[in-house]
Amino acid sequence: MAEDKKMKELREKLLSGKKNGYDKFDVKEEKAMESYCADYKAFLDAGKTERECAAELVRLAEKVGFKPFARGMKLKAGDKLYFRNRGKSVYLACIGKKPLSQGAQIAAAHIDSPRLDLKPNPMYEDSELCYFKTHYYGGIRRYQWTTVPMELHGVVALKNGEVIHLNIGADEGDPKLVITDLLPHLGAEQNKKPLSEAVPGEMLNLLLGSRPLPEGEGSDKVKLAVMQLLNEKYGITEDDFTSAELEAVPAAKACDIGLDRSMIGAYGHDDRVCAYAAFRALLDLKKTPEKTAVCILADKEEIGSDGVTGMQSAAFDTFMEDLCEAQDVPVRVCLEKSFCLSADVTAAFDPNFADVFEKRNSALINYGIGLCKYTGARGKSGASDADAETVAYVRSLFDEANVIWQIAELGKVDAGGGGTVAMYMANRNIATMDAGVPVLSMHSPFETVAKLDCYETYKGMTAVFQAKN
Ligand code: MN
Ligand code: MN
Repeated sequence: MAEDKKMKELREKLLSGKKNGYDKFDVKEEKAMESYCADYKAFLDAGKTERECAAELVRLAEKVGFKPFARGMKLKAGDKLYFRNRGKSVYLACIGKKPLSQGAQIAAAHIDSPRLDLKPNPMYEDSELCYFKTHYYGGIRRYQWTTVPMELHGVVALKNGEVIHLNIGADEGDPKLVITDLLPHLGAEQNKKPLSEAVPGEMLNLLLGSRPLPEGEGSDKVKLAVMQLLNEKYGITEDDFTSAELEAVPAAKACDIGLDRSMIGAYGHDDRVCAYAAFRALLDLKKTPEKTAVCILADKEEIGSDGVTGMQSAAFDTFMEDLCEAQDVPVRVCLEKSFCLSADVTAAFDPNFADVFEKRNSALINYGIGLCKYTGARGKSGASDADAETVAYVRSLFDEANVIWQIAELGKVDAGGGGTVAMYMANRNIATMDAGVPVLSMHSPFETVAKLDCYETYKGMTAVFQAKN
């Protein structure tokens, strides 16, 4: 018996002993977790595109006293500021007690999600059915997006400068759109194709209508009837699609998953689940942080972070430079002392597809926020690969704040891979580490996450913002 006890002690002292988050979770936090997740679900339903998310974030930030930042503003500790870049990405800051020469604590996430964008000439009629042609945005498995109720959200910019906001799905009772698929009875040939070829990109056509105009001759009477409806409601004509950003997104609302309600199913967890955690952590800061806390909610991550609203855009550097200028600090001095948590989702181990994971290094549902030292593919290509010191920094920060966390890779070596905004932050000379919520069915129209992991990610972000060093 004595020997058993000694062994147990030795085991506890020397071995890591992974535990389910619920074995460590303080039940006193249960209420806080549920209320946080309820707010998160409401956020998901309010924002199904990057523009809608940006608008909702600004609305929520203004409600608690965040002010729009303008170049040349005088800044003092405790000031809460935001900047919205072209309606599609949002940068927020809470000015710290220490000057920016001591660096900033940054959390960077993205608010764009995979979806189907309308082509510039989207509308057509075929066999007396009317359709929109789409071009998918981000890495999707195309077969997952058929026979799913869809909504249409976005903007149409007119030549006169007016921007019309379109949202088919916002109102209860709104109609939905759908992409049809083949019936099994006639699917024999399609069944033989690999998944990646069964539904080609040009087949992702959204069904819009079927009822022709009641009278008159000529072709395209269904298309004309649908266009008439759009014209009545939004005042647009077919030519206006040229300067539009219309995004087809899954119609489902966020909801609890599981009989135990321990998970959340929704469209767009990637990466709104981390974006919301970072954002809420900044909003909920009780005291002025030691260092300036910065929250970046970027666009375009799903297609490489390029573009004027992506994380590679100089808009971020300009924002930081403007903040630094207010304190007479060269921006390079601030960045080299800054830390960034690149907050993006990771793959959750799925026992249904165990063979693409390496179990010892996979993020598990309910094991807390997943740290990733590196992402990338084919030998870590495209990863910033955080140094050991940075990983140690995050470990100690999370442990001190009782954050439940795990460390993982995205999948088996050479099984695939992925990237985040981490490298774009690290390339700017900012010590950067990846961390985020593990997701099941990532990039599908309906992704699943665990409530515990959402809440622990929020706690992790809080720890980053409140850090003294
Ligand atoms: Mn992501
Ligand atoms: Mn993604």
